[in-house]
Amino acid sequence: MDPNNRLDNLFPAYQGKNENLIILLTRTAEILTKWFSDAENLGPLPIENNFKPSMPEEYGSSLDSLFSEIESLIYNSFNPVHPGSLAHLDPPPLIISILGDLIAAGLNNNLLAHELSPCISFLEESICRWFSKKLGFDELSGGVLASGGTLSNLNALVAARCHSGLKSDPSAVFIISEDAHSSFKKCASIMGLPDSGLIKVNTDINGRMDIVHLKQTFENCIVEGKKIFAVVATLGTTMRGAIDSIKDISQLCKERNIWLHIDGSIGGIFALTNISIDGLCNVDRSNSITINPQKILGITKTSSLLVVSDFRKLNDAFSTGLPYIASSDDYVQKGEIGVQGSRPAEVIKLWLSLRFLGMYGIEAILNSSLERKSYFEEYINKDKYDIYSGPLHIISLLPKGMNKVNSDLWTKKIRKELLKKKFMLSRSLFKNKYFLRIVFGNYNTSKSTIKDLSDFLNKI
Ligand SMILES: *Cc1c(COP(=O)(O)O)cnc(C)c1O
Repeated sequence: MDPNNRLDNLFPAYQGKNENLIILLTRTAEILTKWFSDAENLGPLPIENNFKPSMPEEYGSSLDSLFSEIESLIYNSFNPVHPGSLAHLDPPPLIISILGDLIAAGLNNNLLAHELSPCISFLEESICRWFSKKLGFDELSGGVLASGGTLSNLNALVAARCHSGLKSDPSAVFIISEDAHSSFKKCASIMGLPDSGLIKVNTDINGRMDIVHLKQTFENCIVEGKKIFAVVATLGTTMRGAIDSIKDISQLCKERNIWLHIDGSIGGIFALTNISIDGLCNVDRSNSITINPQKILGITKTSSLLVVSDFRKLNDAFSTGLPYIASSDDYVQKGEIGVQGSRPAEVIKLWLSLRFLGMYGIEAILNSSLERKSYFEEYINKDKYDIYSGPLHIISLLPKGMNKVNSDLWTKKIRKELLKKKFMLSRSLFKNKYFLRIVFGNYNTSKSTIKDLSDFLNKI
């Protein structure tokens, strides 16, 4: 028998007060809360990794030793709430979203099928319809949540390929810009496309898909016998937040009857609001759009959704008949409209967070990230740095005139120095050089912190 004798309390009790559960939840919340408040001293990243995970043994470990391991795990983690966490599209978690995750875990419903998540499936449908309407799509539209932007993009591309009738055609291709996200390469592999099945169009001086080159690419495809099943426009590129011209691209796609997918993993959320963003218009002329609220709004990972202008296209692409689940004409089984099968109730945290924020709160968060970037742009020495940035909250920079080798050394060195000062920036390969990249999506970052950062960069 287990010497710790705790096998009675493995699951929540179905009667009584569940005291054990309450005690454990409280203890966990206390550790987590303390870690948040200790962030100022600890910085965004632990200096060295002191977490040494123990592996399962014959008998389970005591709760006390488990809690000390939990503490060690937490204290050795990246801390997104620290104001110097400016490296990636990983903002601090909204408190309401943390609650949503807890509820989803407790409910342990499955978004695979209606009978395993009756009201949450309805909630997912409702929130997708809300997004569709906000984006300007009509009542034929709808969507599905997925665990991240990569999967939402993949769902869109599979639907596009099926719709085009090129499901098993080896000459099928899709088009992205050279600055589109690296995950499209994965999508192409998963879809069984050869390297030549992913065509990259050049970007212009502002980092947007070059329309002349896109037209040229259409012509080339005809000559080479390639059949285009989708064009992907990026609404917010990863390196500089550039926005492809959806107006021009949608026009060209309409003329050729090609599916237009918008990768709005970074900027898509802005399209819901009244915030005026250069080049952000006409998203309702696309066939599908990915929105990834985990990237900027602070919905906890993962939270992403795909909205399609014609909801039936998802079912056409993914339906299997789901043989082991009772079917119904009244609703669509959610496991039948995307690549994921079993799915957690991630919609709860998204819904709760958006309800809590309201449009006013959503705009306040988004606007604040743009303001932080503008503030930095005001201070940074533009004679010293090449600065790449579009209309969104991302900046990549490098001292002028640096070659690849020096950019590699410089970014490594400066990133290390910045970490000592509790600033975490990222280091990314762009235009065949290494850049420092700053993402201003952290609501905890104050103007004085930004000033400190630009002062440091101006002085070195
Ligand atoms: C992050 C990102 C993705 C991929 O999203 P994941 O949530 O990491 O899967 C796709 N496109 C863009 C532009 C992104 O920034």
